[in-house]
Amino acid sequence: MFVDAHLHADTRSYEDFARMRLAGVDTAITCAHDFVRMSTSHVYFDHYERLLNKEVRRAGENGLRLYVALGIHPEGIPQDYENVFDRLPQYLDKPRVVAVGEIGLETASEVEITVFRKQLELARDLDLPAIIHTPRKKKREVTQIIVDILNETRFPLNKALIDHASHENLDIIVGNGIPAGLSIQPPSKLTAEEAAKIILNKSGVFVLNSDCSSKQSDIYAVPRCFMEMESLGVDEESKWKSARHNAIEIFNLE
Ligand SMILES: [Zn+2]
Repeated sequence: MFVDAHLHADTRSYEDFARMRLAGVDTAITCAHDFVRMSTSHVYFDHYERLLNKEVRRAGENGLRLYVALGIHPEGIPQDYENVFDRLPQYLDKPRVVAVGEIGLETASEVEITVFRKQLELARDLDLPAIIHTPRKKKREVTQIIVDILNETRFPLNKALIDHASHENLDIIVGNGIPAGLSIQPPSKLTAEEAAKIILNKSGVFVLNSDCSSKQSDIYAVPRCFMEMESLGVDEESKWKSARHNAIEIFNLE
């Protein structure tokens, strides 16, 4: 059975969960994101409630065990983000919450850096891992800023999943001993074949995910990559670590 370690369940249909389960995905992590204009803290609180209740239930009814990551997405920072910080700790304490996310940087503006740093400190203090977004533009430069902030905040690097890794930033991530999230979401992110080749050719801690959202996505991303790894002759241990066990270890899933 596979783990899809980063998706956006609130954008997918009931039937998608059934299809994923049939394809062997029995566990997933749904991350908070910017599904509408995140104008105020209240939009986030309503979003968190939906992920924690309705989405966990919709997935569960299809045999898919859904865990939740909560935080402020860099592309949806509300004016009153301080109010989110006030209540975020109580949400992070709820059942099924396994990480702070999706957090990170998009343009690395001053406000993005302030909000990212604050969430890393919160995750560190609560002993939670973080799911960290990297942008499409200036991916390498922004990834280096993220790594610098992780070091400045003394964040445990084995609990920081730097996601949407590509050939542009992979060496920075694995070179610092940080787990790399491989998001299989063509055409904007990796293809299943590209992700499988990375696992075949590079060493590091890899975690597969679909990042499936309302954008063009592949709900079968993880099983599809597993098949690609089989045809490329990737060894059993590497296949199962990237498609299941690394996520279970990092996020302490049951
Ligand atoms: Zn995402």
